[in-house]
Amino acid sequence: AKAEGRHTARFFDDQFKEEVRLRWRLSRDLEGAAERGELYLAFQPIADADTLEVIGQEALLRWAHPELGDIRPDRFIPLAEASGRIDSIGLWMADQALAAASRWPDHMTLALNLSAIQFRQPTLAHELLALARRHRVAPTRLEFEVTESATLLDKRRQPVLTVLRTLQHHGAAIVMDDFGTGYSSLGNLREFRFDKLKVDRSFVATMLDHAPSGSIVRSIAALGASLGIPIVAEGVEEVAQLARLREWDIPQVQGFLIGRPSREAIHCADPAATLSA
Ligand code: C2E
Ligand code: CA
Ligand code: CA
Ligand code: CA
Repeated sequence: AKAEGRHTARFFDDQFKEEVRLRWRLSRDLEGAAERGELYLAFQPIADADTLEVIGQEALLRWAHPELGDIRPDRFIPLAEASGRIDSIGLWMADQALAAASRWPDHMTLALNLSAIQFRQPTLAHELLALARRHRVAPTRLEFEVTESATLLDKRRQPVLTVLRTLQHHGAAIVMDDFGTGYSSLGNLREFRFDKLKVDRSFVATMLDHAPSGSIVRSIAALGASLGIPIVAEGVEEVAQLARLREWDIPQVQGFLIGRPSREAIHCADPAATLSA
């Protein structure tokens, strides 16, 4: 048993080293990836839950690594954060997304994900607003998605609040992403004055057969209604989920049922096709 234990320890040790090597390589390869054309954006539609009219698009970062293939953002964004590359990648992707949004119908919003690290840059809000101006996209069409950990875990909240307030002051909306999974307290909700809450995919995925998840989604719906801010449910994959979300008066939906992320933004969902899916 002892020898076996040593084998197992060795196995995990090798795996660990392999993982460290891979991370180091990805982190190195990420340098200049945008310039080499390996990064691109996918857009996923956000729709009105009742009419299924597309009201906005969320920009999602993609990396086509020349040797390793597609790398998921969940994997490379933490590396970009750790190496400080997220600042330049974040602005690069805002630039690309705004260029695309400038060609969309005027009513369509653009949602961008912001990472916690980016808030350490006091000029962030002004840089984003300058890019919007350059592409002639009104800031009122912009939504910035931040996760609870990004905003609430930072001990120095003032810089985060300043960035968020500046964006809001110019008419952009601040969305709390992955709501329900972080460290939310209702006090934080008030302090940060979010304009919209996005219910995490994990609750939507389980809400039909796991009663507590359903209760959480319903409570968030009630919270949104009483605060007067819209709720969007993400990860909607099934017609039955959409039906339940409508019953609970969730006003906006996003997920594979309405549209998958794609290079070309989908401007109108086909409700009939969606509902017969
Ligand atoms: P997120 O902001 O919560 O984005 C939603 C994720 O759910 C996306 O994964 C999307 O492709 C996926 N998704 C959407 N609808 C469905 C569905 O119906 N079913 C399932 N199973 N999945 C669905 P993705 O694109 O892999 O992005 C993962 C995360 O990476 C994002 O989570 C976001 O936190 C981060 N991310 C992506 N792009 C950026 C970016 O440009 N900047 C920053 N800071 N983070 C980004
Ligand atoms: Ca998001
Ligand atoms: Ca999310
Ligand atoms: Ca997420």
